[in-house]
Amino acid sequence: MAEASRTSEARRDAVFGRWVIFSPARSRRPTDLKSHGPANPSPGPGPDDGNAPRPSCPFCLGRESECAPEIFRVPAPDASSPWRIRVIENLFPALRRDVEPPPPPEEGEEPVGAGECAVRGFGFHDVVIETPRHDVRLWDLDAEGVGDVLLAYARRVRQLAEHPAVKYVQVFKNHGASAGASMAHSHSQMIGTPFVPPSVTSRLNCMKEVFERSGKCSLCEIQCKDILVSETRNFSAIVPFAASYPFEIWIIPREHSSFFHKIDQDKVLDLGSLLKNILEKLCKQLNDPPFNYMIHSAPFGLSSSCMPYTHWFLQIVPQLSVTGGFEMGSGCYINPVFPEDAAKILREIDCSI
Ligand code: AMP
Ligand code: ZN
Ligand code: ZN
Repeated sequence: MAEASRTSEARRDAVFGRWVIFSPARSRRPTDLKSHGPANPSPGPGPDDGNAPRPSCPFCLGRESECAPEIFRVPAPDASSPWRIRVIENLFPALRRDVEPPPPPEEGEEPVGAGECAVRGFGFHDVVIETPRHDVRLWDLDAEGVGDVLLAYARRVRQLAEHPAVKYVQVFKNHGASAGASMAHSHSQMIGTPFVPPSVTSRLNCMKEVFERSGKCSLCEIQCKDILVSETRNFSAIVPFAASYPFEIWIIPREHSSFFHKIDQDKVLDLGSLLKNILEKLCKQLNDPPFNYMIHSAPFGLSSSCMPYTHWFLQIVPQLSVTGGFEMGSGCYINPVFPEDAAKILREIDCSI
């Protein structure tokens, strides 16, 4: 359908169950949608040699002592640097590992129902420093380097899954000040919670409803044809049918799989190359926008009856618009760019030149 002939349309997705209003009248052309400000929050005046640590950045090589304790490091493949990736505790954690976790429910005890409830602020909040170099962005690494970052996430999630009080781990990346980043040095984070967060519960409920009605997994069933951006042997990158945000992308494993942290070495390299390619495309098309990405996986201890409809994926959201009163009030987003148009634009970008 030609852009000009498009009228507004409301779509509901089969994963979050959210309604989205597509209103092309609210932007001029999809290709005009670009980020206005620089993504980086505070790179600061650095020395010309990008390899040198920034004076005020604790994530730079050589400043390890200014960070909260290290959990593990991934060594560099050669002697160029003592590490390639570091997973550390967050110095200002949202949840704390050193407080008493909530007690497990007694045998036969009912799960907590609706209504107000409070538990101690127990949990884990870790930071993944993706490179020792201040001037290198995640997509500047080679595919193997991006794959190693993903492997570090999976390794840490596996460790956290061993803790009986951790119910879910949210892996996420904030890039750029308006996407919530306070540090310019390339990093991501994960928070392990003692409860299953509400958007995880509603995602699972929505996918369960679809499964009970159709016998199918919402993500296995996606028809990629018009919304495909790029694909590899094991993954497809699409602009979802009911994308809440302009140029939002989902990277989905083609083979049904509930848990991100069970990814193997071969697939992680493949995912690394696709994630690199997609971040390059977004940077080129949208003028290095601030963005967030989130890994949506299944909660730990999920019963085997839920496995057929839980399918993990990675969601990338460039921050191109502000959330206003309508979105906050209704939980319903207005997206000026139809997914088919965004996918076509991104598909056609060649990042090799
Ligand atoms: P963001 O705000 O998304 O850029 O994430 C950066 C995170 O790094 C924040 O949650 C900070 O609390 C955390 N942080 C800042 N300085 C340090 C440090 N020296 N050691 C460990 N974590 C830190
Ligand atoms: Zn730095
Ligand atoms: Zn599936």
